[in-house]
Amino acid sequence: MTTMPVVWSPETRRHEPLREVWVGVATEGTEVPARVDQIVGALSGHRLVGATPHDDDVLRRVHAPAFVDHLRTVHAAWLRGPYDELVAQSRVVPYAFPTPALTQGMAPIPAVATHARAGEYCYDTMTLVGPGTWEAARAAVDCALTAVDLVTDGARAAYALCRPPGHHATREGYGGSCYLNNAAVAATALRDAGHATVAVVDLDAHHGNGTQAIFWERPDVRYASLHVDPAAGWFPHWFGHATETGAGDGLGHNRNLPLPEGTRDDRWVDGVRTLADWATGADALVVSLGVDASADDPESPLLVTADGYHAAGQVLGALDLPTVVVQEGGYHLPSLGELVTAYLDGHAGDADR
Ligand SMILES: [Zn+2]
Repeated sequence: MTTMPVVWSPETRRHEPLREVWVGVATEGTEVPARVDQIVGALSGHRLVGATPHDDDVLRRVHAPAFVDHLRTVHAAWLRGPYDELVAQSRVVPYAFPTPALTQGMAPIPAVATHARAGEYCYDTMTLVGPGTWEAARAAVDCALTAVDLVTDGARAAYALCRPPGHHATREGYGGSCYLNNAAVAATALRDAGHATVAVVDLDAHHGNGTQAIFWERPDVRYASLHVDPAAGWFPHWFGHATETGAGDGLGHNRNLPLPEGTRDDRWVDGVRTLADWATGADALVVSLGVDASADDPESPLLVTADGYHAAGQVLGALDLPTVVVQEGGYHLPSLGELVTAYLDGHAGDADR
C-alpha cells in the first residue's frame, strides 16, 4: 500500500473555541481539538512528520500584515479589556461590523475599543478567538509550509493536517471557523518553489470564499470548488455561485460548481472529475480537503460516503501533479479519520479500500 506523508503539529490542538454564536445563540462549537486526534489516530500507518517552524514571509503576502498582527495580539488585548472580568467572557467576539451599511462610502477611522476593532477583521459571530487560537492557526500554516517542503524535496504528494481550517479566511479577515488560509499559503509557497501555475481544488462541503477572494484577480493560482449551493441558503451565502469566474487578469480562472442539498456520491464524484479536467495543465495542485460533505456530518446536507472520497482521491491523484492536500472542514468525529484516510489512499493510488 502506498502512503502519503502526514504533516501535523500538536500545537494545532491549542485552539479551543468553546462555542459559536449563531443567530444570537451560543452553541457548542464543532471545530474542536479532538478532530486532530481522530485524524492522526486513523493515519497511524502513514509517515507522520512534525511541522517545522517557518517565518512569516509567505503568510504576510497571502494576508494583509495588519490583519496578521491583529490576530496575533487581539486575545491579549481582550484580556486587558478586561472583558473576562466585565462579562465573564474570555473569547474575542465582535458585536459591530463596519460594512457598507454603516460606512456608506466614507472611510472609517479604526476603532479604539477591542470589541469594536474585532469587527474590522472578523466577518461573523461564529469564529471566536481564545488563548491558543493564534498559536494553533500559526502552527497550521507551518503544517502547510512543511508539506510544501516535502513536495519540493521530491515527495509526489503530502498531506497537511491543518487545524483550524482556513478556506473561509480572506486576505484581510477571518470567519467561518477559519483564521489563516492554509491552502492559499500552500499555493503561494508552491508558486515560490517554481511551479508556474497552481490549481486549488476545494472539496469542502462549503464554498471557500476566502481562497477565491485571495486569488480572484490572479491567473497563476486558479481556484475551483464544488459545494452545497449558497442559493439554497448555505454559508458563505454571498459567494460560491457558478457566475463567479474571477476578475481582471484572473477572469476565467475561478470555477464554482454548486450542488443541491442531498447530493450523493455519483453526482459529487462527477463534479470532482469536472474540476480535475479544469485543473489539467496546472503545474501543481492544492486540494482543500474538507470531509464535511459526508452524509454523517452535522454541518452540511450533502450525502457523500467514504467510497466517494476514495474515488475523489483517485480522480485527483490521477492528475499526477505535485500535490499538497490541506485539511479543511469535517466535524463528525467518529467518521472523520476514515473519510480522510479514504481520500488520501485514493489519491496515493490504491485501487481498493
Ligand atoms: Zn465546510
